[in-house]
Parts: sequence; structure tokens; C-alpha cells
Amino acid sequence: MFSKVFVANRGEIACRVIRACRTLGVQSVLGFHEVDRASLGVRLADFSYPLQTAPGESPRAAYLDIEQIVEAARKSGCQAVHPGYGFLSERAEFSEACRQAGLTFIGPEPECITRLGDKNQAREVMKSAGLPLVPGSDGPCESLEQALEIATGMGYPVLIKAAGGGGGRGMRRAYSEEELKVGFEQAKREALASFGNDSVYLEKYIARPRHIEIQILADNHGNVIHLGERECSVQRRFQKMLEEAPSPFLDEKTRQAMGTAAVEGARAAGYRGVGTFEFLVDENKNFYFLEVNTRLQVEHPVTEEVTGVDLVCEQLWVANGEKLRLSQDDIVCRGWSIECRITCEDPDLNFTPAVGQVRGLRLPAGPGVRVDTHLYEGYKVPNDFDSMLAKLIVTGSDREATIGRALGALGEFELAGFPTSIPFHRWLLQHPRFAAGDFSTHFLEEEFQGLPDDGTQDLDLLTVAAVVKHQNTPRPSLNGQSANWARSSRLSGLRT
Ligand code: ADP
Ligand code: ADP
Ligand code: MG
Repeated sequence: MFSKVFVANRGEIACRVIRACRTLGVQSVLGFHEVDRASLGVRLADFSYPLQTAPGESPRAAYLDIEQIVEAARKSGCQAVHPGYGFLSERAEFSEACRQAGLTFIGPEPECITRLGDKNQAREVMKSAGLPLVPGSDGPCESLEQALEIATGMGYPVLIKAAGGGGGRGMRRAYSEEELKVGFEQAKREALASFGNDSVYLEKYIARPRHIEIQILADNHGNVIHLGERECSVQRRFQKMLEEAPSPFLDEKTRQAMGTAAVEGARAAGYRGVGTFEFLVDENKNFYFLEVNTRLQVEHPVTEEVTGVDLVCEQLWVANGEKLRLSQDDIVCRGWSIECRITCEDPDLNFTPAVGQVRGLRLPAGPGVRVDTHLYEGYKVPNDFDSMLAKLIVTGSDREATIGRALGALGEFELAGFPTSIPFHRWLLQHPRFAAGDFSTHFLEEEFQGLPDDGTQDLDLLTVAAVVKHQNTPRPSLNGQSANWARSSRLSGLRT
């Protein structure tokens, strides 16, 4: 095994990777920008390495600087680099630069990332591997005329998608020829500005689909397995808010078929490491390949919880050239797991992000409760990065029990200093349609019009936290959640 791994990321995922290294007796070196000097990752890592940016440059640039990171990894004596998610994780040039420098990139080969990173190329590979695709253009749409012709052929609505898009960005719906005319050039311009690549293509806009994805794991010796599915249909603006495993929608036959399709797709692409095959599933349980994410996914913990497999350790083993120690038959999913993405966004203000200092923090605990976060009390959250600050992962014997447990954990979760998505998740988990598993990717559009006003959401968190601190009395809830929880559990009749 490697003796030292460079962690080229920050936030909760840096902590997650550092902990996996520790589990395997591997030392970790975390690259960090000055704004992250006081971060938990820097405290947890065995070593840390400052990354510089030019004056006036965003701190993000430090985590995107391939040359500097590779140099730092070499200088600090690492043999491998873990890219986490986001930042450089899906950049073929980064995988290539690591290889050139004699470092193992913990992820697929650059050729494979290139093949799958362009959504058009990925569609081609998967089509020849026999996977069903979302109907769409074969290859990029070069001109508006071509786009109009294809759209007329398959019928509206269509989705204009950036070949290099990601993170829910670079997509535009068109319900008519007029909308396509307006949207096409705009989409190309946006794609160029956001992804440095103006290539766009068309897909049929599937009505009321579910987003269900398959986790795969592959070694360097031709072994590929899958670890079941995750349901990620609760989305806002094409971005996931809550994920669960398994999916409440799939039957065993569809589950098997999707797993087999993902494994075949991974073989066709020459895949190595962990990866995710994303699919849309329509109301009749037809599934369509969407894209491959060639990295660890934000929502990987729900799979870990139901399979008992540590995906980051698996990543390290296969990157080290070892053969998979698990066969497909070893993968047995037990129970149910739900992840809530806790962001510093105000659900009542259209999810406007707002950060500050963590004035009070009490993380939920108890059976089946896991929190992946880099927060600690007193931590000043820099506002240069993603708004996701914690993941609450709750596991139970079945879906109903897990929802109850998750509501309990959200009620216990005290985070003062800025607004968070915690109240949103409490609303979501109590929604009858969520409880019934009756939702699609349009669920929030259809159902969420802001939080119900029950008078407990408006407490001034800072004031309450300050008072609580000074009084040094047994702490009441910092943000009224406990009172809220008692009330809501009565309302929904859930067991407490
Ligand atoms: P995933 O595909 O892992 O489920 P998303 O689809 O929400 O997660 O995010 C896709 C991309 O968005 C990630 O690869 C990353 O570029 C970015 N992203 C999402 N969340 C974060 C985060 N907390 N920190 C940094 N980047 C993020
Ligand atoms: P990204 O790279 O940004 O993650 P994806 O292709 O994975 O983009 O799509 C993200 C989300 O957008 C999906 O989960 C789904 O909600 C929606 N979406 C994408 N393609 C389609 C489509 N053809 N029809 C309907 N919804 C789609
Ligand atoms: Mg996606």
C-alpha cells in the first residue's frame, strides 16, 4: 500500500479521505489555501501543504492548480493523489499530470476520463455497449438548423445540454421551436463560458423521471462489480438535495437490469476505480443512460451504509493495483439509508447562501446516525466555496424507520450562526408524498413553496446562541428545532 497520499480537495470530503487513509495506516498530506488554514482537514491530516494563489485570485484557484498540486504531492513524498469530488476530480489533464509525475491518480486513467467526461462521447460508448440512451441527437448539434430538425423528429419538449456540463449546470429546456431558437445560442455561449467548451447536444426531455444511479467498482485486472442503486430524484434546479439507497421505486428485475447495464458500460469504457452510472427512469420503469461520474460521489455514504463497504478504502486498494476482494455475490444490501445535504442556504429566501462563523454546534448521534462534516464550533466558514457543509446520513432497518430516525436526528442537529437547509429537510421528510415514495425529479417544483410558517423558524440564531452560552444553563434548542420536532412528530404520527 502507499505510505503517503496527497489529498487534493477540502471540506468534508478531505476529512473523509484522510480518515480512510488512517484506517489503512496510510499517511495523508492535505494541500490547503490560506483561507482553509483553520479547517478541520488541516487539523486531521498528518501533514498539510500550503497552496498559493496570485494576488486577487479566488481561493478556488488553489484547488484547481494542477501544476502546483502535482509539485506539492511530489515534494511531500506522496505516491498517490486523491482528488475527492468537484475541483480537479474529473479533469483528464490532472490524471495525466499525475501519471507524468510518477504519481498514482486515485481514479480512472486520463483516456477513460476523456472518453466519459464528454457526455456525447459517453453516449456513444454506452450505445455500443448496448445501454439504452435518452433519445437525442447522435453527437453534438453543430447548428440551430440541425437542432430544429432533430427536435422536430423526436418531438418537444427537448433539453439542450452542454457536452462538458456538470453539477446541474449547462441545461436548458425548450418546449417549442421558438424556445429552442432562443435557447440554442444562449446555451452554447453559457457552455463556453462555464466549461470552456461550446459543444451542446439535444435530449428528449423525459416527463416526470426519477434519477436513479448505480455505484460501480472496478480494479485494474478486469473485475467490475456494482453496489446497487441510489435514488436521487429530490432535486432543486437539477441538483440533488437528498439521496437514498435503495430506491423505493425499483423492482428487483429493473434493479438487476440496471446493475448489469452499468457493469457492461464500465467494461466497455475500460473503467478503473469507483464510478457512478446515472440513469433516468420513466413512469413505466424504462431506464435510460444519462452520464458517468468518474469519481467518488457526494452521496456515496448511503451505499456504504447499506452494503457495509468503505468505498474510499476500496478506491485506495484498487489504485494500489490490488484485485477486488469482493465479488458481485458478496454485495448484499441491508436496510435503508438516507442522506440529507446540509447547506448554508436559507430555504425561506430561495436558498440564498449565507455563511459566517459556527456559533453553536451539536451534532446528532445515536444508532444509525452518521454526520460527514468539516464543521466545528467556532469555525469561520469561508464564503469562497460550495454551500454544502455537512451530510447527515441515517440508516435503519426499513424506509419508514429510517425516515423517523432521520427526523429525530434533524431535530437534534443544532447549528447556529447562519441559516441552513435543516428546516427544509424536516419539511421534506414529513411530506406525505415523500413518505409514500411518490415523487419524480419535479417533486420540489410541484410541492415546495417555502416552509410553512409555524413561528419557530424566525428565531434570531445568533442571539439565542449567545444567550445560551452566557447563561450556561442546560441548553435549550438553539434554533427552536426540538420544540418543532415534538410538534411535527405529533402531527405526522411518527414514533419518537
Ligand atoms: P454528485 O454528482 O456527486 O452527486 P452533484 O451532482 O451535486 O454531486 O455535484 C456534481 C458536481 O458539483 C461535483 O462533481 C462538484 O463539481 C460539484 N459539487 C457538488 N457539491 C460540491 C461540494 N460540496 N464541494 C465541491 N464541489 C461540489
Ligand atoms: P449533470 O452533469 O449536471 O449532473 P445530468 O445529465 O446528470 O447533468 O442531469 C442532471 C439532472 O438533470 C438529472 O438528474 C435530471 O433531473 C435532469 N435531466 C437531465 N437530462 C434530462 C432529460 N433528458 N430529461 C429530463 N430530465 C433530465
Ligand atoms: Mg449528473
